[in-house]
Amino acid sequence: MPLLYHWVGRNYRRDLDWGAGYHLNQSNPLLHRIDHGDSLWAFTRTPAGIYVLAAELVVRAKTRNPSGYRYGEYRLWGDLEQSRYFRTEGQPDVSGFLRGLSVKASAPVIGRSFQGHAAVRLLTPDDHQLLAEYARPLLPEPRARLLPEEELEARILLGDPVAVRGLIRDETPGIAAERRRYLFEQAPRRNPQHVEELRELYEGVCQLCGWNPKSIYQRDLCEAHHVHWLSRGGDDALHNMVLICPNHHRAIHRTDAPFDWTDESFVFPQKREPVQVSRHELLAQ
Ligand SMILES: [Zn+2]
Ligand SMILES: [Zn+2]
Repeated sequence: MPLLYHWVGRNYRRDLDWGAGYHLNQSNPLLHRIDHGDSLWAFTRTPAGIYVLAAELVVRAKTRNPSGYRYGEYRLWGDLEQSRYFRTEGQPDVSGFLRGLSVKASAPVIGRSFQGHAAVRLLTPDDHQLLAEYARPLLPEPRARLLPEEELEARILLGDPVAVRGLIRDETPGIAAERRRYLFEQAPRRNPQHVEELRELYEGVCQLCGWNPKSIYQRDLCEAHHVHWLSRGGDDALHNMVLICPNHHRAIHRTDAPFDWTDESFVFPQKREPVQVSRHELLAQ
């Protein structure tokens, strides 16, 4: 079932500032009624007070956050190639159009009909078709441009600010000022001590598959991975890190695997792989 979602303006803008996460959270279990490949249509309110269509997330994964997570327990992840953010500047008000769909929205200001739990609603296939038509002439949001994230993360992990700057300079037009500042100034300052702590805690073993290079090669070959990537604003702290083998690390980055905090699994396209060895707590971000 496709969904309609009211994305609170400041949350939507923060998401864009941090590099369009292509995922969102909600406390209403209705969020997980959507099927893989279905669309979640999001609308938002601009600072000028106009309601506009913000994004179409085509769902590739559904995961849960720990209970008590501040943005809600349910999370959707958009397919990076099929999902899109729309440019909101210059869009006409979408309220009248939305009232023509099957969802109930009788409040004089449409956002008031979509508060809290009611922020997410089921759509019919006809609603979805109408939205697809409506979105056809809309322009893409330039700030939602994807960076070569895998390479960016790799350069940050090398602790080489010059390399990070080089990559960002080549890609500058798509990055919000806030994210650029973060990537320039904060992200390169990671603490190598954490990797040593993790290796000690797990005796060098991959938390996903148990591969133990120290016993075979007498070398530390497992690597620290930031569950919420550093390049996307993830904490450089143990509660956001796992120790994994290079194969798992490569697979996670290459597929941009979502993480489910309730059962501590990485969600790969064909299967989930849970953390097998867990000796420290991971916190959702
Ligand atoms: Zn492994
Ligand atoms: Zn990593």
